[in-house]
Amino acid sequence: MKAPLMLITGGGRGIGAATAKLAAQQGYQVIINYKKDRASAEKVVADITAFGGLVHCVQADISDTQQVSEMFARIRREWGAIKALVNNAGVLDQQAHFVDTTPERWQRIFQTNVFGTMQCCQEAFQDMALSRGGQGGTIVNVSSLASVYGSPNEYVDYAASKGAVDSFSKGFALEVAGDGIRVNVVRPGLIYTDMHADGGEAGRVDRIGPNLPLQRGGQPEEVAEAILWLLSDKSSYSTGGFIDVGGGR
Ligand code: NAP
Repeated sequence: MKAPLMLITGGGRGIGAATAKLAAQQGYQVIINYKKDRASAEKVVADITAFGGLVHCVQADISDTQQVSEMFARIRREWGAIKALVNNAGVLDQQAHFVDTTPERWQRIFQTNVFGTMQCCQEAFQDMALSRGGQGGTIVNVSSLASVYGSPNEYVDYAASKGAVDSFSKGFALEVAGDGIRVNVVRPGLIYTDMHADGGEAGRVDRIGPNLPLQRGGQPEEVAEAILWLLSDKSSYSTGGFIDVGGGR
């Protein structure tokens, strides 16, 4: 049987890379999308290839509608219809009080985290929907617990973008359930990745982690497990749902 095709946006590092490796181990044919860090994406490809997994990588900026369309067209042409999608690519900006941030910054964050996710869902629908001749599929949108607690004094705009991802995912899940597509959300808490350095505090997880109920930050692999479960048939009765992977935060 042909290995089901999975696309992971932002799969070159962090949670996306951990998800790509676990997916390949579980028998998916994985397509890793990256934006600019080709070397990291190729390292993930090499790691997966080394244990005999099936993997490809495609460059595209998820915040650019033209590039997203072209990426999906290329995937269909070269490998076929996707069966699973992980909208993982996400960005934040330097820690700041919201009143000091600019509309350009909000737009940049929303363009990737919200509109990129929405467009990829629309494209995936074309591949998966029973009413379009597809065979169904599963989607996981990677949000954040920031959508719940709002990230005051750090990333309120980022938190708002993840709130939009939560609302969008719920509505979209209910719209496409009859088309054989399940859509769920994973909301990580504080996870050890390079994203925190991008926000200006590389040691953020070590600073806050000990104060959480589970008294530590999480690993990308712990998030990947939740994502893979939601993509698999083991979660066959779950759609429009949320799994929080945040150490009790
Ligand atoms: P990360 O280490 O910063 O990795 C993000 C990945 O997204 C990078 O590989 C990057 O690719 C890619 N990316 C960014 N913008 C993109 C774009 N426009 N188009 C395509 N790819 C793009 O992040 P992470 O910590 O693994 O986070 C993954 C997801 O989990 C994000 O949605 C994030 O919001 C969410 N999350 C993370 C945490 C945490 O504590 N780490 C907590 C809650 C939620 P390039 O390097 O090629 O640019």
